Amino acid sequence: MSESILAAVMTAPRQPIELREFPRPDLPGGAVLLKTSLSEVCGTDVHLWHGRLAGVPYPIIPGHVSAGVVDAARGPVTGLDGSPIREGDRVVFFDVHRTCGRCRACTVHRTPTRCAARRVYGITDPASEGLFGGWARAIYLEPGVGIARLPDAVALDDYIGGGCGLLTAVHIAERAEIRLGDTVVVQGVGAVGLSAIALARIAGASRIIAIGAPQSRLALASEMGADILLELGSGATTLEARRQAVLDATHGEGADVVIEAAGAAAAISEGLDLARAGGRYVIAGHYTDVGDSTINAHQQINRKHLEIRGCWGSEARHFLRALSILERHPSIPFRKIGARRYALHELNDALADAEAMRIPKALVDPWQ
Ligand SMILES: [Zn+2]
Ligand SMILES: [Zn+2]
Repeated sequence: MSESILAAVMTAPRQPIELREFPRPDLPGGAVLLKTSLSEVCGTDVHLWHGRLAGVPYPIIPGHVSAGVVDAARGPVTGLDGSPIREGDRVVFFDVHRTCGRCRACTVHRTPTRCAARRVYGITDPASEGLFGGWARAIYLEPGVGIARLPDAVALDDYIGGGCGLLTAVHIAERAEIRLGDTVVVQGVGAVGLSAIALARIAGASRIIAIGAPQSRLALASEMGADILLELGSGATTLEARRQAVLDATHGEGADVVIEAAGAAAAISEGLDLARAGGRYVIAGHYTDVGDSTINAHQQINRKHLEIRGCWGSEARHFLRALSILERHPSIPFRKIGARRYALHELNDALADAEAMRIPKALVDPWQ
């Protein structure tokens, strides 16, 4: 690779993406320079572009889940499995880094996704510090970043197609504690919801009900493992019709588990109603503040003896489990979530397409 490296920079919310050259970094011991193979534009990037996430140090190089080939490693560098990482290896990395391991969130509460020191490639790493994002021809992996070799059996398009949504879904499945034979409702058929459907299926759910739009995404939800599709939007199902459909599928009880991956305030009251008494509701789609949700705590929570859990971010174990799942289940069409490839100079179009929900996710090929 040359001495100057091309990257796409988000300078501020609502501003056009700019192409800039960055110097090739000097690597300290334990660092890696990755020649980027593929990165992504996901819903989070649209939120970043809208300025809807707090604490983002613009300008940034977005692209938090990415894959590449090791161009240089200032050794010795070891992967998360303890094996050496060498030049030429096809690798992926866990985008969360600098989790401190010492604060109360990390040690006392064991909730490292709430560690205040935690930083995320492409989201909370400033471009002023260098190549900390996947919308670039190279990514600087600082010492301590969790690196893993991408298993030979895993196609690049499946890894990035699953991407951050798959990592989040692994965490959701853990929080949801899906049991064999459960009926699971998934609200939302974006990248997170689609992956959650696939994981509910391999976790042993007997029936999976997907709620969302548009029709093309519901068709993909079916390919990911959903049995019943309930379309949102005018002219599609009503709230009451969706509730009745879930009751009809569950002996009139409601779903054992409801997963919210919609990110809409109105989804919460509906989700509470779709869960059976004593069931579980995992809320993971409200990654940004979309406002208040109106609920009736007596009817919808207390009297139902309902369990409600939030789910924030992911940990290294979710990253590694995602790799194992991809390796074991090549038939799940994660690649179809990443509908189109875009070059670095096309990322304004990619953001516009993701914003308009024309695609669940865009793939970024910085060499195109
Ligand atoms: Zn911490
Ligand atoms: Zn993402």
